[in-house]
Amino acid sequence: MNITNTKVGILGGGQLGKMLALAAHNWDVETWVLDASKDFPAGPVCSRFVEGSFKDFDDVYRFGKQVDVLTIEIEHVNTEALLQLEREGLKIHPSPSGLNIIKDKGLQKDFYKKKLLPTAPFQLWENGDAIRTALKNGALRFPFVQKSRTAGYDGRGVAVIRSEKEMGLLMEEASLTEELVDFQKEIAVIVARNEQGEVVAFPAVEMDFNPVANLVEFLVCPAGLPENIQREAKELAIATIEAFGLCGLLAVEMFLTKDGQLLINEVAPRTHNSGHHTIDSCYTSQFEQHLRSILNLPLGSTKMKTASVMVNLLGEPGHSGPVEYDGLDECLSVEGVKVHLYGKTTTRPFRKMGHVTILDPDPENARAKARSVKEILKVISKVY
Ligand code: ADP
Repeated sequence: MNITNTKVGILGGGQLGKMLALAAHNWDVETWVLDASKDFPAGPVCSRFVEGSFKDFDDVYRFGKQVDVLTIEIEHVNTEALLQLEREGLKIHPSPSGLNIIKDKGLQKDFYKKKLLPTAPFQLWENGDAIRTALKNGALRFPFVQKSRTAGYDGRGVAVIRSEKEMGLLMEEASLTEELVDFQKEIAVIVARNEQGEVVAFPAVEMDFNPVANLVEFLVCPAGLPENIQREAKELAIATIEAFGLCGLLAVEMFLTKDGQLLINEVAPRTHNSGHHTIDSCYTSQFEQHLRSILNLPLGSTKMKTASVMVNLLGEPGHSGPVEYDGLDECLSVEGVKVHLYGKTTTRPFRKMGHVTILDPDPENARAKARSVKEILKVISKVY
């Protein structure tokens, strides 16, 4: 394939689309992006921005007709249009049928069960009333985690309900409930597969969550895991992408339970927040790897150049409006600090505005520097 003549269509123009377009630009690959506004992060860096909705059949269909390969940076796209485009011969990665399963957390969990892939036990519910009835008749017990089947993103659509007192958190839509997993670590492995079936996995990373925002706060690579668990995690990620038969990237989020078992939490068939460090810390970035896999090129080495910690740059609570980055100079004077801003002009509490990767051969040093970066660098707005 002559990649320099290939038009890659990306559904979604957020930061993932932006970083994918930047990687494509290195290879003179044309990127077309569909999203609501040119002012979104990918707008200034893609070859062509098409304004429209990736949830709308006609917009997606028309967009797909203009590109050679279609991919996504968000799951919540119109898959009916993708299925139609696929029937008409367009190359789409991830496959619309795989995407349909992953988009619905209920179907996703059923898939793991059917394929004997390890995941926490779960039950599916039509609505909130079904859950209330199940609690009354003993079919469901506290504590449990409720997940909306289709509305989840970045911690929204997930409720941890420990007792009757917390039932105010219950979501009324179709959902699944899971046992509360007693995990020692949350990790993620990003794996790539191309059309020839070549598969490679990036090293596992460890995620630390901010309990208030329920967003990843620190992401440490390599994860502090014994070698056998590292290996098992990679093998599980590979088994998962092979079970789905997907091309492109698959980010596999897992729990490591206190008794040393790996359970799949959820997957995303695209570039992922847990892979941002690869831009600076690995031989191949996740964005380049995604392009390699959807363009059916040889996959790149996933070797680490150095250990790293990634920090999401989130909008400071209490600040909404035109964005300012306080402490940027001080932060940039620290060795190994790589700042990535997404180009969002306004901030709001906990909005993902950028990320910082801290490189250091010693993960503990990287962690310490990450802590100070979090202290120094603030995403604020002088307008309240
Ligand atoms: P999202 O789609 O919002 O990322 P997740 O399913 O990953 O939703 O859940 C968000 C977070 O909630 C997880 O990263 C984890 O910290 C916590 N969580 C999810 N499921 C469970 C579970 N079964 N037991 C314990 N904690 C969980």
